[in-house]
Amino acid sequence: MIYIYGGNLYTFLGNEAKRGKEMSDINIIEDVGILVAEKIIAVGKRQDIETQYIKEISEAIKIDATNKTILPGLIDCHTHFIFGGYRAEEFSWRLKGDSYLSIMERGGGINASVKATREASFNDLYESGYSRLEKMKKMGITTVESKSGYGLDRDSELKMLEVMKKLNEDHPLDLINTFMAAHSVLPEYKGKEKQFLKEMLEVAKEVKEKDLAYFIDIFTEKGVFSVEDSYFYLAEAKKLGYKLKAHVDEMSEGFGGCEMAVEVGCVSADHLLKVSEKGIEKLSKSDTVATLLPLTAFCLAEEYAPARKLIDSDCVVALASDYNPGSCHCNSIPLLIALACIYMKMDIKEVICALTINAANAICRQEAIGTIEKGKQADIVIMDCPSIDYLVYGTANNYCQTVIKKGEVIYRG
Ligand SMILES: [Zn+2]
Repeated sequence: MIYIYGGNLYTFLGNEAKRGKEMSDINIIEDVGILVAEKIIAVGKRQDIETQYIKEISEAIKIDATNKTILPGLIDCHTHFIFGGYRAEEFSWRLKGDSYLSIMERGGGINASVKATREASFNDLYESGYSRLEKMKKMGITTVESKSGYGLDRDSELKMLEVMKKLNEDHPLDLINTFMAAHSVLPEYKGKEKQFLKEMLEVAKEVKEKDLAYFIDIFTEKGVFSVEDSYFYLAEAKKLGYKLKAHVDEMSEGFGGCEMAVEVGCVSADHLLKVSEKGIEKLSKSDTVATLLPLTAFCLAEEYAPARKLIDSDCVVALASDYNPGSCHCNSIPLLIALACIYMKMDIKEVICALTINAANAICRQEAIGTIEKGKQADIVIMDCPSIDYLVYGTANNYCQTVIKKGEVIYRG
């Protein structure tokens, strides 16, 4: 057992996703007492907890959090962190203004990651994945959504998902797996996208039988998968028992990806840089979570998704890193917080909501994680600052000091 005392707790309450004004409705307990085993046993004013749980506290490991900020474990609900190879050269080409097409012609782009991931051994992917999880842990992340999608054929996709399964068993962070073979169209499938999707549905069947993924995801975009094909693919996958996600409205205006995602019943619609008015309206009347990925927009020097408009229209907004080897080789939560507050005009309370309970809803784990309440999994982060305002004020500074996962201290900075 662990007893955390003396800090300032910031948490949302209840399992439901928060929308609109609810995203600012954070619960604050100053001079808090939190007693945890694998789950949270008690949380409240320190004085009350210490009079009620005298024996338990006397036996527990004690963590003095005086003058510190305590948050639910952060959730990165959109990543592609399993991949082979790096594309550092390509990044510098892009900064010089080279077009996507010319980069592809020189062997860059997603195809480079596909090639390197196919060539990588299980162990290569496992080792690099493990060390990336270690970095995430140090920023206060306790749960990670992880997508396949650099294999694009049966064997390589299964290899990626098997690596994630093993990492989930071995590493303290929890992984939620997503099958994302519909990530790109290789040259040999150009014009035969639907055929490719049908083939991947066969793989999806096998993935489900082996229980290797909870979600399925598709990249709905001009030149990748059409709205019609995406709808077909996701609707078929739903019949196989998958929960649905979609990458939508990242690059082209008026493509209708967000509308499709809501209609087919996606748990989350991700990116939304170019979301339409109609898309926002549909989202606001649905339970689909709008997952925004500011680090990608930053790395690509694109305009950010309209977070303020989405929240003010009563949508459920989550934030995630989109960590991947191409468009966003960055998973800095401190930088993400800075961008969300400074450029997307989100309030820090909304940002905490978007990284905790709303992110939990984006991966269907809201019953277990996302808030600090009695009975929930003891995933807790202690930040070395007195209030959440410092997380913006100390721009891109990592304040994370202690991370507790399922009642065990897994990091102390
Ligand atoms: Zn992505």
